[in-house]
Amino acid sequence: MIVVGAGVVGLSCAVRLLEAGHRVDVVARDLPLETTSAVAAAICYPYRAAPQDRVAAWTARSYAAFDELTAEPEAGVSMLEGTEVLRTPEPDPWWAGVVPSLRRETALPDGYVDGWAFTTAVVEMPVYLAWLGQRVLELGGTLTRLNLRDLPGGGDAVVNCSGLGARLLGADTSVQPVSGQVVYVEQFGLDRWWLDGGSPEGPTYVIPRSHDVVVGGTDVEGDWSRTPAPETADSILERAARLVPEVSTARVIRHKVGLRPARPTVRLEREGQVVHCYGHGGAGVTLSWGCADEVVELLASPVQAHSGRHAAE
Ligand SMILES: Cc1cc2nc3c(=O)[nH]c(=O)nc-3n(C[C@H](O)[C@H](O)[C@H](O)COP(=O)(O)OP(=O)(O)OC[C@H]3O[C@@H](n4cnc5c(N)ncnc54)[C@H](O)[C@@H]3O)c2cc1C
Repeated sequence: MIVVGAGVVGLSCAVRLLEAGHRVDVVARDLPLETTSAVAAAICYPYRAAPQDRVAAWTARSYAAFDELTAEPEAGVSMLEGTEVLRTPEPDPWWAGVVPSLRRETALPDGYVDGWAFTTAVVEMPVYLAWLGQRVLELGGTLTRLNLRDLPGGGDAVVNCSGLGARLLGADTSVQPVSGQVVYVEQFGLDRWWLDGGSPEGPTYVIPRSHDVVVGGTDVEGDWSRTPAPETADSILERAARLVPEVSTARVIRHKVGLRPARPTVRLEREGQVVHCYGHGGAGVTLSWGCADEVVELLASPVQAHSGRHAAE
């Protein structure tokens, strides 16, 4: 079968399909380190993705898979505690059941009145995508650069993991870019992540990795530009320094913008020989293993059982 797309969603699907005994060829216009996935911060957190019930189930499966991957240092996955801060008191989040360790946090930076601390996966995307790509090859799959105008035909089963490219490859204009800018600063000894999802200027987060710290961010709907804006970077660093003051003096290494493939709901459904798996918005890493498991299940069942089913809508 053919997997279209070499971002985190396509590669995870390819790995699970190969593990299930399928023969898999991955084709993609952008290779793993050139994708949106390479820009993701990335923590396992169900941000900007729906529908809630399926997202919660997919997140739970991914959480367990990432937890297992911490045993493989070369995968670039660690489980770290961090804090999400809140400007108003709030009840527990809808996804509280997915992370085993959620608790109220009382030690908060100035300006915040509530917060949750919990342990989740921090995934160092360039390392992780390289590991996933290698895993595809080790399992006997292939990975080829190919810019497609249509989904491949010819009778092979196809898994469409084209992200924003599904506007063309799924004829689906409900997939829209939501741009996110990040600044990478030198690692200054940070060992927990911080998140403020309620800032009017955009989600603000500080995520430690082995050699740097990812500082974000923005989410601008309908924005196609991948050019980092200096004034946006200043705003990101200023907001982030309210969470972690050391950010204001850390050396900036580089800037990046990625385009999240947002859709009102994730599309994960089978249509004949094609399984569509795209529209993961701000949570493609978070949902990756859960969705990959479901893709394998969909391809294991008879065509008629799922043909034309619009499960996500
Ligand atoms: C700043 C930022 C921070 C983020 N942080 C997080 C986070 O903390 N946690 C989290 O879970 N998510 C996060 N995300 C979201 C995450 O990055 C996306 O949800 C995820 O990358 C989507 O993965 P994907 O594989 O579907 O798409 P992509 O990574 O975009 O991959 C799509 C693939 O399809 C291929 N393709 C498209 N069109 C064609 C075509 N015509 N022919 C051939 N190939 C084609 C592309 O070349 C590419 O290989 C973040 C995103 C951004 C921008």
